[in-house]
Order: sequence, then C-alpha cells, then structure tokens
Amino acid sequence: MNIGIIGLGLIGGCLGLDFRSQAYKVLGVSRQQSTCDIAVEKGVVDESSTSLELLATADLIFICTPIHLLVPTLEKLTPYLKPQAIVTDVGSVKGAIVANCSRLWPNFVGGHPMAGKTEQGINAAQLGLFVNTPYLITPLESTPHFAVKILTEIVEKLGCQIYYSSPEEHDRAVAWISHLPVMISTSLIQACAKEQDLNIRQLAENLASSGFRDTSRVGGGNPELGLMMAKYNRQALLISLTNYRQNLDEIIDYIAGEKWQELEKILVSSNQYRDNFIQ
Ligand code: NAP
Repeated sequence: MNIGIIGLGLIGGCLGLDFRSQAYKVLGVSRQQSTCDIAVEKGVVDESSTSLELLATADLIFICTPIHLLVPTLEKLTPYLKPQAIVTDVGSVKGAIVANCSRLWPNFVGGHPMAGKTEQGINAAQLGLFVNTPYLITPLESTPHFAVKILTEIVEKLGCQIYYSSPEEHDRAVAWISHLPVMISTSLIQACAKEQDLNIRQLAENLASSGFRDTSRVGGGNPELGLMMAKYNRQALLISLTNYRQNLDEIIDYIAGEKWQELEKILVSSNQYRDNFIQ
C-alpha cells in the first residue's frame, strides 16, 4: 500500500516516520520545496513534491495541512486520485471538515490523532508520537465501511487506541479536553505577563518550574492551531468557556469569602475525578 501525506509538518512528519518504519511507501506533498527536501533527508517520506500529482498512485492519503486548508486541499487533490483511494484528515475539528470533504470525495473518512507537541514543522517530527494515544475516527452514515476498516487497520499500527464518534460529538468532547485547555492556558500566561511589578514578574519567571511548564504548555503552542480551534469549533468552545468561567467565579467566591470547606470539597473532588481523564 502506498501512503500519501499532504502537509509535512509536525503531524504529517510524525505519520511519515512511523509509516516508513513499518515499510510502507510514503509519498509526501508540502507547500515549500525546502520542507520536501528536509522530509526526504530525515527519512519522513520516500518521495516528495510540491505538486499533488505525486499522489496519483497513493491508496490512502492523510491531509495534514492547517485546518483552514483541509477542504481546499482535497478540492485540488481529487482530479489526481485513483477511484478507490481513501482520503482522511488529521484536523483538530471535525464538524465543518467532514461534511464538506465527504461531499468532495465519497471515500473520505475523518480522523483526529490526539497527540501533539509544543513545536511545529517538519523538524519537530519524531518516531512514535502516537503510541498509546487516542485516535478518533468520525465516519458519517454514508461513509463506505471498507474505507473505515482500512483506515482503522493502518492507524492501529501507530500504536493508537481507536475510538469512533460522530463529527459533532467529537467537537463537543474536544472542546472540553483540548480546545478549552488551550484558552485557559493562554489566559494563564497572559495574566502572569501582566504583573505590574517588574521585580515580582522576573522572580516569578525565574521560579517557574514543572507546575507552570505543565499548565502553560498548550497555551504556549502553535498560535495558528489555537486560532483555528476557536474559529472552527466556536460554538462548543464558547459553551465550555462559559461553564469554566462559572467554576472560576465559584473558586474566587470561596477564597474571597474564606469558605474553606467548600474549597476543600472541590479540591478533593478534582483530585479524584482527574483520574477519569488521565489513565
Ligand atoms: P504544522 O507543524 O504547522 O504543519 C503543517 C504543515 O502544512 C506545514 O509544515 C506546511 O508545510 C504545510 N502546508 C501549509 N500549507 C500547505 C499547502 N497549501 N499544501 C501543502 N502543505 C501545506 O502543523 P501541525 O501541528 O502538524 O498541524 C497540522 C494539522 O494537524 C492541523 O490540521 C491540526 O489541526 C492537526 N493536529 C495538530 C495537532 C498538534 O498538536 N499539533 C494534534 C492533532 C492534530 P511547509 O513547511 O511546506 O510550508
């Protein structure tokens, strides 16, 4: 099987390294020639090009461009595709993408690897990023079964745990655990950066250690990705943010009013409930 990858950045690059390590032939297309050259040098792809024509022999293609380019890229790709070719994407939002892509190509199956890093681009690509991470596949009722089956079989080889949902369920769930954390983490960094006392700010910067590293990681990541999450999953994200603000107000109220028992109750409950998310 020939695997095609469009967008040789972090996610596309990681997929290429993993698939090549499993002896698949990987054909990669990216926007810049320099990225294509690095991809070959790093062993991310067997062949690369800036032209989608390279993918005429691909059986399964992963579109790994920024979110706003997923649909336009598929639109440009379809004239080159084999009739049975399966196309998937890795976009962090699914509702707006899957409906449009499925109209453009019947053998389209939406997907989302739930793995990432703060860095972006081809030079951040590494082997094994997806091991033991969730990979959500979001077929529609009209999506052909053979396409879902083949994508599942290939993605399993990355060492992922596979889940299935509708695109809308995906967007609501990731609003809570992915898109909301990006916005909270961003506001944390912004709030710290606005400390007026320069001495205190500098001391805080020097003292920041593992706790701040963990809580600021997603807010300090790819700005384009954060913007796209907000634009393309706006409704679900706003619901999550509003709920979050209510919880934050509650905590402010407990501390301001010295309601230590109430505060302790939610700290204990959070300590226990976190395990439901982090196995
Ligand atoms: P990235 O590192 O910035 O990679 C995107 C790559 O797309 C760039 O390196 C760029 O390559 C290429 N590109 C841009 N326009 C293109 C075009 N018109 N045609 C072909 N290639 C083009 O971003 P990423 O983090 O891998 O994210 C890519 C996708 O993965 C997004 O849809 C995102 O939602 C999804 N995703 C990201 C994460 C994460 O944590 N990062 C996790 C899961 C899913 P050039 O160097 O050639 O310009």
